[in-house]
Amino acid sequence: MSGIYIIIPNGWVRADREAQMRNGEVSYWWQAHGIPARRPALPGPAEADVCIVGAGYTGLWTAYYLNQADPTLRIVVLEAAFAGFGASGRNGGWVTAALPGSRQRYARGPRGAGGVRDLEQALRDTVDEVARVCTAEGIDAGLVKGGELAIATSAAQDARLREQLAGERAWGDGEDIVRYLGRDELASRLRVNGAISALFSPACARIQPADLVAGLAATVTRAGVTLYEDTPVTSIEPGRARTRAGDVRAPVVLRCTEGFTANLPGLHRTLLPMNSSMIVTGPLSQEAWQAIGWDGFETLGDEAHAYIYAQRTADGRIALGGRGVPYRFGSAVDRDGEIAQSTVAQLGRILRRMFPAATGAGIEHAWSGVLGVPRDWCASVTLDRGTGLGWAGGYTGHGVAAANLAGRTLADLVRGVASPLTELPWVGHRWRQWEPEPARWAGVHGLYALYRTADQLESARGTARTSWLAKAGDLISGIPH
Ligand SMILES: Cc1cc2nc3c(=O)[nH]c(=O)nc-3n(C[C@H](O)[C@H](O)[C@H](O)COP(=O)(O)OP(=O)(O)OC[C@H]3O[C@@H](n4cnc5c(N)ncnc54)[C@H](O)[C@@H]3O)c2cc1C
Repeated sequence: MSGIYIIIPNGWVRADREAQMRNGEVSYWWQAHGIPARRPALPGPAEADVCIVGAGYTGLWTAYYLNQADPTLRIVVLEAAFAGFGASGRNGGWVTAALPGSRQRYARGPRGAGGVRDLEQALRDTVDEVARVCTAEGIDAGLVKGGELAIATSAAQDARLREQLAGERAWGDGEDIVRYLGRDELASRLRVNGAISALFSPACARIQPADLVAGLAATVTRAGVTLYEDTPVTSIEPGRARTRAGDVRAPVVLRCTEGFTANLPGLHRTLLPMNSSMIVTGPLSQEAWQAIGWDGFETLGDEAHAYIYAQRTADGRIALGGRGVPYRFGSAVDRDGEIAQSTVAQLGRILRRMFPAATGAGIEHAWSGVLGVPRDWCASVTLDRGTGLGWAGGYTGHGVAAANLAGRTLADLVRGVASPLTELPWVGHRWRQWEPEPARWAGVHGLYALYRTADQLESARGTARTSWLAKAGDLISGIPH
């Protein structure tokens, strides 16, 4: 062993490497290949058939499918920083079919439970659609469809997994959609310290998120979509998006700004910018991978209330994320992804506890991003025919696959094509505004304090019962389960 080492409760850590850890700089995913040179900014007033604000997955998938359907459409995308600057270039890389919202709430729509089943099937199909386009367009995003593991590391978490499974069966989802893995079956795939069981869902793929968004931006611009970077939109109004360089006039203007929406005039309380923070290790040794397994590249999450998510990266590291500081006062959004040292330490402790064999790899980079949370935690894809204004987002942390489905749906809505997608229950879904400050800040921070305490109590007591603190948190926040 070379380098400086310090003793920590769970083993040894490379102190020299962690001292050099990069913090922010958008994300490891971008820094792995280098942030690309910026495309030109909007030079002055312009006209288009469709103007899209925001070049993340939502904006770019919408541009992609619109262009595919009608290459004559003049599509202009306006991006404040660069394509993939937001959550799309920073996320955990789960292309998950998880529903961005609550079955019960979507089922209140005119199509009831049938509509929800269609939405869930469409999301499962979306995982394959993302893979199909990557192949068709030559986008190498390291996509591996290994499925999704939700693990339990306490009796209470295991009880929740079993309860969830019973709920899935009652809903009609069979073994092909989700199944329970006992300790040994889980260990044959992946060895996580203290793991008791897991639910396995095949409809999930792992990706390198920035590679996907960079590939998409290159694909749409090659196909004739105009993408202006360094062009913040100052307001969105019917028929135009305003910028300091001039207006882009278009009969249809689509807002695809998810976690950044609070910065736009009149939308401060529409979507809560929730932070999610990530760390990535250095490359693990072969011995470490032998100890851990993970040859199937499943995405990995746990059943804690303050849950974590992780992936084995294409370049042999572990990337792990969690909530950290959940929300900044006044819906403040971003400082280039920089995160607090306390969050790095917290995620590092979880990583070392779960994967002692990864300890020697150190933590090389930490960053964060914002995702958009609606007040009822259910996403929406909407086009208002009267004003020509549309939007999609509020995926509550399940936005990678959902943004593709949303993009296809917006493309149909814009072209006025009635399709099975335009009938899905999230189309036209609306929610109420978030509370004003300081209630918003106090509510979110209070919620995560409850969740963290509940996790500690459940682990310490070894009980199979979910802590009442977490139940109270769910009730107050309206988070669907
Ligand atoms: C750390 C983290 C981990 C996550 N992990 C996962 C995961 O593993 N799986 C999953 O399904 N989901 C995950 N999510 C959520 C998912 O990444 C997002 O829901 C999804 O990327 C949203 O895409 P988007 O295009 O709607 O928004 P974004 O990717 O945030 O893009 C919005 C774009 O709009 C631009 N913009 C904002 N305001 C303006 C303006 N005024 N003018 C012009 N441009 C503007 C921004 O610069 C940005 O590029 C995660 C999110 C985070 C932050």
